[in-house]
Amino acid sequence: MNSPAFNSAVPPARTEIFSVSASGHLSRRSVLKAGAALLALNCFSCANAPGTKATRRHVVVIGAGAFGGWAALHLRRMGARVTLVDAWGPGHTRASSGGETRVIRAIYGPDRPYYKLVARSLELWKESQKRWQRPLYRRTGVLWMAAEDDTYERASLPLLDGGGFAYEKLTADEAARRFPHINFQGVPWVIREVDAGYLLARRSCAAVLEEFQNEGGEFRQLHVTPGRIAGGEMQPLVLSDGSTLAADAYVFACGPWLGRIFPGVVEISSTRQESFYFGTPAGDTRHQEEGTPAWIDNGKLQFYGIPGNEWRGFKLADDAAGPVVDPETQERTPSAAAIQAARSYLALRFPALKDAPLIGSEVCQYEKSRDGHYIADRHPEAANVWLVGGGSGHGFKNGPAFGEYVANLVLTKRSVDPFFGLDRFNGKLY
Ligand SMILES: Cc1cc2nc3c(=O)[nH]c(=O)nc-3n(C[C@H](O)[C@H](O)[C@H](O)COP(=O)(O)OP(=O)(O)OC[C@H]3O[C@@H](n4cnc5c(N)ncnc54)[C@H](O)[C@@H]3O)c2cc1C
Repeated sequence: MNSPAFNSAVPPARTEIFSVSASGHLSRRSVLKAGAALLALNCFSCANAPGTKATRRHVVVIGAGAFGGWAALHLRRMGARVTLVDAWGPGHTRASSGGETRVIRAIYGPDRPYYKLVARSLELWKESQKRWQRPLYRRTGVLWMAAEDDTYERASLPLLDGGGFAYEKLTADEAARRFPHINFQGVPWVIREVDAGYLLARRSCAAVLEEFQNEGGEFRQLHVTPGRIAGGEMQPLVLSDGSTLAADAYVFACGPWLGRIFPGVVEISSTRQESFYFGTPAGDTRHQEEGTPAWIDNGKLQFYGIPGNEWRGFKLADDAAGPVVDPETQERTPSAAAIQAARSYLALRFPALKDAPLIGSEVCQYEKSRDGHYIADRHPEAANVWLVGGGSGHGFKNGPAFGEYVANLVLTKRSVDPFFGLDRFNGKLY
């Protein structure tokens, strides 16, 4: 869901192509990257005028999850010919974008880039919902329960103010008066973020795909094997039907699969995460969205949840990273230990639900980058390849804006924001 534990310093802004080592030499990686960047500039030299013929490059996006689906839609809208390929389809049950719902909130501690992404994503979620005439976003607000060490929350307030996000700061007593069915014991204070809420996850991915196709994009449900890298470029992709697919650029937005497709280039660990749905008493609206916002507990137990919605029950999940799993082969049977932990938490914070029946569950995985921040960068050895992922338990909400950012990276001369770039893992920025 979200990972405040992963706060890291915002690296300084950097746009230059070359990075020079302490000894004053250009590293091999820097030279390769620079060469790749120049090749790419050549590929897309006229591509920063959206809608012109020059932008009708063919881009293949691999992965139709929150990142790839939105990137494909934006690429299409910017005039590219786009083929979106996914082995199992948008928001399928094994993807990190699968499942019913996701939280959208702007509280992001000191991590400035996310405030911009959330503001733009919120705009795009609302606009798309209106335009497509289907529910994607529900404005329930989010109750954020601060940690005892509230550095993260205190860092958030000025950035919420600066970003124009509406919120209220509540004492635990005020919150308890407002939401008497929630036990705020041990919570120092609370932020109620007004325009936050939840998103319909798998259905949004399906809606994005439908819109992408309506706007002229092509979708193919096939497994992709990357092409060989030769001469600083990736050769055509190999598809599971035995055919090959060539394009001007390839965007790999492969979620938890990204690291295994590009070992040694990008590191992603897939951690098992379990979400539970508890049945609320018949006629009880307190635990439905009429009576409870989405909520996040940033205390010792980092649980979060979404009120009863879409007739699916009261959702509750532990944000702590579970064991590393294989997204393709892990069994999706909930574990007794996780059910027990969820029940204990439910009894503590939502006492009226302590005996509520478990009526559903989802077993998913976070696709974590090493520092918990997203990744969007060019492959260091292939100018025509972009690597996108690392949603790290908080990527879904920002699919619309991050996809737009990726589309701009691919089709225009926009430079990689080092906050999301691969160089940060090579000790070059810190
Ligand atoms: C339980 C859970 C709760 C979460 N809660 C929140 C939340 O509250 N708020 C929030 O913002 N985020 C949340 N997240 C995180 C968010 O859902 C993810 O970060 C985001 O959905 C990742 O999207 P993605 O497109 O990168 O990956 P995915 O959705 O996994 O998509 C990758 C796609 O690539 C395809 N693919 C991979 N390899 C190949 C190949 N070789 N050939 C063809 N196709 C391929 C896969 O089939 C898949 O469809 C949560 C995640 C989980 C698991």
